[in-house]
Amino acid sequence: MRPLRATGRPWIVPLLLLLVTAVMALPALPHRAGGGTEPAAAAARDSGGGAPRPQARDVVLAVHGGAGTALRREDTDARTEKAYRDGLAAALRAGAKVLRDGGDSVAAVEAAVRVLEDDPLFNAGKGAVFTEDAGHELDASVMRGSDQAAGAVAGVRHVRNPVSAARLVMERTRHVMLAGEAADAFAARSGLTPVTQDYFWTQQRWDELMKAKGTRPAARTPGASTTGTVGAVALDTRRGLAAATSTGGMTNKMAGRVGDSPVVGAGTYAKNGNVAASATGQGEVFIRGAATATISHLMEFGGMDVAEAAHEVVIRRLPKLGGTGGVIALDSRGTYAAPHSSEGMLHGYATADGRIVTRVFPDEDDGGR
Ligand code: ASP
Repeated sequence: MRPLRATGRPWIVPLLLLLVTAVMALPALPHRAGGGTEPAAAAARDSGGGAPRPQARDVVLAVHGGAGTALRREDTDARTEKAYRDGLAAALRAGAKVLRDGGDSVAAVEAAVRVLEDDPLFNAGKGAVFTEDAGHELDASVMRGSDQAAGAVAGVRHVRNPVSAARLVMERTRHVMLAGEAADAFAARSGLTPVTQDYFWTQQRWDELMKAKGTRPAARTPGASTTGTVGAVALDTRRGLAAATSTGGMTNKMAGRVGDSPVVGAGTYAKNGNVAASATGQGEVFIRGAATATISHLMEFGGMDVAEAAHEVVIRRLPKLGGTGGVIALDSRGTYAAPHSSEGMLHGYATADGRIVTRVFPDEDDGGR
């Protein structure tokens, strides 16, 4: 082969060098431009007109009370609206207090989720939905972003606060998930007070089971939803992220069915410097789509910001797998996104300066879809 020099075109070498340099620089562009040219980011932006926007900034803690039918303005009375807002706000206050007192993000998400588990309005702990054989089987998980430690319980029947059992699995065992009777026994041995199944009973969830079985006409309970899982994400003063999720699952589920809530990477995920996320919706699809881990990976490896990544997963990818729902996602700078493909999602957040905001009607969401 003749050397290029001998072509009589001396400018060709610098030109080729310039081209090669330009091509090599291309993959780095999305990171610098915040996802500007990465194909999936561009696609996310195209849908629904414009780039997905975060719900809020300077957020230290956020909670959700489930996706689903949620509340409709037209058939929600003031008392029902207030009950849901109060429930979310009480959870936010409990978690924010932990952070204010110097507690870490794991303690904050546990405190927030416990409040929602104790509130019969939500499908976690007291108020959990029924299985097809009229029992209650609860799932929960927690993840710490600093070292990606995680703990979970699945199918527990006698734990009042499954999120605390999940934290004990994370902190006191060498495992990530315990299931069934042995998980109940572990929780009791670890000092959590056991409860009987009737502790979880509520009229609303019973009516929903009867409706699902077709034995009773739909009792239209305002705000009633067959979902209603709860979750929390938090960012502490050491920039530590954590996420937790707790649920009774889906009304009329088979006994033994485990959803996404206790599955790390599906219902719950946290990684410092990146994101904490908690999901709600049709669990099977969130597992198949590795929902919360995908949000994290799109941010870490795809150059997306938290709003773009959460939107991409919840609005674009999961519906293609046949499922709807939502996530709350918080990045390590306090940027908060809460997209949902379901009609609504109950959620709220607390900011660094002490503001508490609750969102119970779909039209209150700002850029969340
Ligand atoms: N994701 C939960 C489950 O499938 C249900 C929900 O979010 O309401 O168990």
